[in-house]
Amino acid sequence: MSTKKSMREALMLVDSHCHLDAIEDLEVIIDRTKLEGVNKIITVGTSIESSKKSIEISDNYSSNIFKMYATVGIHPKDGKSDVEKLGLNQCIQTLKQLVQSSDKVVGIGECGLGYHLTADNLHLTTDKEKEFQKKLFEAQVKLAADLNLPLIIHCRNAWDEIFDSISKIQTPNSKLKGVFHSWTGNWQEAQKALDLGFYISFSGIVTYKQSLRSSASPAGLKNAQEIQEVAKKTPLDRILIETDSPFLAPEPLRGNPSKLPTRLSSTIRTRLVERNRWAISKNEPKNVRIVAQFLADLRHLPFAKIAEATFQNARQLFGISI
Ligand SMILES: [Zn+2]
Repeated sequence: MSTKKSMREALMLVDSHCHLDAIEDLEVIIDRTKLEGVNKIITVGTSIESSKKSIEISDNYSSNIFKMYATVGIHPKDGKSDVEKLGLNQCIQTLKQLVQSSDKVVGIGECGLGYHLTADNLHLTTDKEKEFQKKLFEAQVKLAADLNLPLIIHCRNAWDEIFDSISKIQTPNSKLKGVFHSWTGNWQEAQKALDLGFYISFSGIVTYKQSLRSSASPAGLKNAQEIQEVAKKTPLDRILIETDSPFLAPEPLRGNPSKLPTRLSSTIRTRLVERNRWAISKNEPKNVRIVAQFLADLRHLPFAKIAEATFQNARQLFGISI
């Protein structure tokens, strides 16, 4: 066995957020993941159907040395049709039943608020849509508090609203905890998240030279620098790493957003880049190693230190075993 390989096996990495229900060739992908020393994966639900599938996948692919866990939740966009079909109460009841039906479920989400902005920071999301997202999010914040499970939060351009919704439900008794996944905010916003006791998870976005927002523009550059500032300053015991695969491939695997046709509006552009349809290669859990390496370089720390810290943090937050 080569030294490189034995080292990879000795290190334990966790991909704390991916969507395996949206990935084909799962057998092959999981084999590749194991070879990279990633031995825990949390696969995240975004609708009732994807939550069910996530539980099924975590049951099917877990073994003694490779552990998989699932979360159940309704994403503000991906799960919208569930709420339209079943109504909010029924959706929350179903999530609750899914939690009770399996010991693989370690969190509530992906849930949150996803607002769209123009390149000039004008809001494109209507008030009606915002109200819908807020109700759906707050119902899941409450569910997480009731079940004493961590929240997996998606936040795009809605920081104040998100902090407000959490503060409303977080009381000293509720001990609500969670993670802001795939961080895209600045340091001020990060401090608020940290003050609430939440973790911050970095995805391939942290490796970008131009951020999702206004890709290939000065605003995109500024946002990318802000995300990296947060990745430098966040206390080591509050950091998680993830791939959000099959979306958001890290550099150098990411496609080049500046090559998108110029006729596209900034909203479509952001969506395409965010959903990674412009990437050369699709993302997969093994690439969490690239995110860990990037953070290690950024913070001038050994790779093993980042691997160990993010592993322990995931164990702590999600209550998962070795
Ligand atoms: Zn996600």
